[in-house]
Amino acid sequence: MGYRTGIGYDLHRTAPGRALILGGVRIEAPFGLLGHSDADVVLHALCDALLGAASLGDIGDLFPDTDPAFKDADSGKFVEEVLRRVRSAGFEVGNASIIIHAQAPRLGPHKKTIRDNVARVLGIEPNAIGLSATTNEGLDAIGRGEAIACWATVLLERR
Ligand code: MG
Repeated sequence: MGYRTGIGYDLHRTAPGRALILGGVRIEAPFGLLGHSDADVVLHALCDALLGAASLGDIGDLFPDTDPAFKDADSGKFVEEVLRRVRSAGFEVGNASIIIHAQAPRLGPHKKTIRDNVARVLGIEPNAIGLSATTNEGLDAIGRGEAIACWATVLLERR
């Protein structure tokens, strides 16, 4: 029982006039993501993966989008609180693997910056994070650029 794995998923609609923030990094784009908080799909998927692995509920339980306190919230703060709970439950983060689905903008040039920032937020080494980005080949809502989604898995180790 030394290890626990978790999976998380999130999707937000794209919208003009919003900032595009992925893994806590502001990405230059003609649109951003719509949401009650800063709509960072990467950090939201990571929160759910961490909470899932530790069996601590989900992001909607902790930070409901009906709570004005979380309006335009920095999702880095969500991760901080989630990590606090994960650690009090006796776990440390081992590694994380992340896949971002975005038709645009091209994320290739930003992958390393996002990975390094996620490592900083999680308090682990960058080489403990795998981050890939893929388009949806022009298919479905993501492929039409109407949304960006993210999958994340994490491994927790019992201290
Ligand atoms: Mg979300």
